[in-house]
Amino acid sequence: MGSSFKNCIMLCCKTKVSRDDMATDSYEEAIARLTKLLSQKADLQGVATAKINQITADLKAADSKSFDPDERVKTGFISFKKEKYEKNPALYGELAKGQSPKFMVFACSDSRVCPSHVLNFQPGEAFVVRNIANMVPPYDKEKYSGTGAAIEYAVLHLKVENIVVIGHSCCGGIKGLMSIPADGTTATEFIEQWVQICTPAKSKVIAKASSLDFSEQCTNCEKESVNVSLGNLLTYPFVREGVVKKTLALKGAHYNFVKGTFELWNLDFKISPILSV
Ligand SMILES: [Zn+2]
Repeated sequence: MGSSFKNCIMLCCKTKVSRDDMATDSYEEAIARLTKLLSQKADLQGVATAKINQITADLKAADSKSFDPDERVKTGFISFKKEKYEKNPALYGELAKGQSPKFMVFACSDSRVCPSHVLNFQPGEAFVVRNIANMVPPYDKEKYSGTGAAIEYAVLHLKVENIVVIGHSCCGGIKGLMSIPADGTTATEFIEQWVQICTPAKSKVIAKASSLDFSEQCTNCEKESVNVSLGNLLTYPFVREGVVKKTLALKGAHYNFVKGTFELWNLDFKISPILSV
């Protein structure tokens, strides 16, 4: 790819650049030379634009043809094994015996928000559930046994001390929830039914922030839906028990990958005395 790009650049520059110079061109040098030439000869800009468009199209085609998923998995694992696994025999030796993560994390399936990357979790640190829009459904043995099993395992067997629900910017699932028309008609097989777990968040945002534009409403809903999920966690008796006994803390979070920020908040769970004598 590099050489064909360079050849095209050289073609553009041939009136100005000697052959010897071209042979040693780096990509950066070629671009700098092109920029300089174009600043001197503005009339070449049209020709250059056409050629650059062609190069871009060629590179895109070459890139899509050359992607080999098997190779990608192979090189990914080899890199992990060399850089991480073989450099941390103590850690991986310990993990072979079992896991005792301090965190259970709910994160979105979105490829941009992997919590292990964003929070630098090492193997063994976080028990993670990822789904569309990082939602925790309420306790329901029939409808949501997958999530229930993960929470039960994390809380009762692994004895995690924290459950963190992490929402994120530009969440497609939340946008989907906010886009469901008022009459409730849906067009998807599963997605809209799933995201309606957080309909109370949508209702709150519409009631409180109807003057905001749609994308701001979605951002608000990304955060409110985390709170709905925290509330839903309390419908699981073993979660409630852990929170009351203070062996388990529930936290909400929002990761904004556009701004590069991360907010974290605690669920305020207070037991109000009904009667005091
Ligand atoms: Zn998402």
